[in-house]
Amino acid sequence: MPRLGSWIEPHPEGIYVRPADAWVDPSQPKAKALVTHGHADHARGGHNAVWATPETLAIMGTRYGEQNGNPVAYDETVQIGEVDVRFVPAGHVLGSAQIVLEYAGERVVVSGDYKRREDPTCPPFIVTPCDIFITEATFGLPVFRHPDTGSEVDRLLHRLHADPSRCVLVGAYALGKAQRLICEIRARGHDAPIYYHGAMERLCQLYEELGVPLGELRHTAGVPKAEMAGHIVICPPGALNDRWSRRLPDPVTAMASGWMRIRQRARQRNVELPLIISDHADWDELTTTIREVAPREVWITHGREEALKHWCMTHQIKARELNLVGYEDEDD
Ligand SMILES: [Zn+2]
Ligand SMILES: [Zn+2]
Repeated sequence: MPRLGSWIEPHPEGIYVRPADAWVDPSQPKAKALVTHGHADHARGGHNAVWATPETLAIMGTRYGEQNGNPVAYDETVQIGEVDVRFVPAGHVLGSAQIVLEYAGERVVVSGDYKRREDPTCPPFIVTPCDIFITEATFGLPVFRHPDTGSEVDRLLHRLHADPSRCVLVGAYALGKAQRLICEIRARGHDAPIYYHGAMERLCQLYEELGVPLGELRHTAGVPKAEMAGHIVICPPGALNDRWSRRLPDPVTAMASGWMRIRQRARQRNVELPLIISDHADWDELTTTIREVAPREVWITHGREEALKHWCMTHQIKARELNLVGYEDEDD
């Protein structure tokens, strides 16, 4: 009897599904790519054919131009080669999916990136029992326990209201984090315009087109400094400390990321107001998910593989590190 999952071959540049002759999230251009979500470390341009959710294809189109895309709706099953393929919500960003692969009586779930917390911009993660669960481990250490998202957003609003002569500048990844943060801010009744860096524009527009309302957003370009006082401004993390931010009224520098748990990361970016808001599972979410999915084996793609592997072994679940390269976590 062949080894469990012998038809799935991990390579440094991605996961090769032999009976489909297709790759999951390959970091190099391939003939057939199945893509879990739109973050650049998972979705690259240049594949001959791509299978992904319609939202992920739209995001890839915005970033790389028109794709030779095969849209697959959540829960629809398509056959690729000899493999039944299904996309199931992963709760990570708009369009994000776990890819469920079935072949020869075995079910393998490639989760891509995921989280278990509520996210107003995408449907929640769905537990799909399987034989092999292929998981990330970005925050795979017990020290990573993300606080309640609402209380982090409350801290942001509190700081904003504390000094109306300043703005709060929040660094947030342009795909996913920025839109989720805006939705969370709106959910707390903050209807004032939110200003954004030009790099956010296309993806915010796309989210709105795909049915995620973000309220009134304004580009910072050409806006007098004084007008932005007392307002929230959102930019990509890379713009937090660059010349661009000098046009803002005495900004309180904030950043929304799971890494803000680590003080040194906050200091590196001169972040005054670290907000621990992550689109990845924390330690408890990772271990809870593995318990619920109850796989026979766990394969770990990227992140802090060691600790999670150890946890699996102490819970009598076989675990293995895949050592994939190029998953940079654009998107924490
Ligand atoms: Zn991601
Ligand atoms: Zn990732």
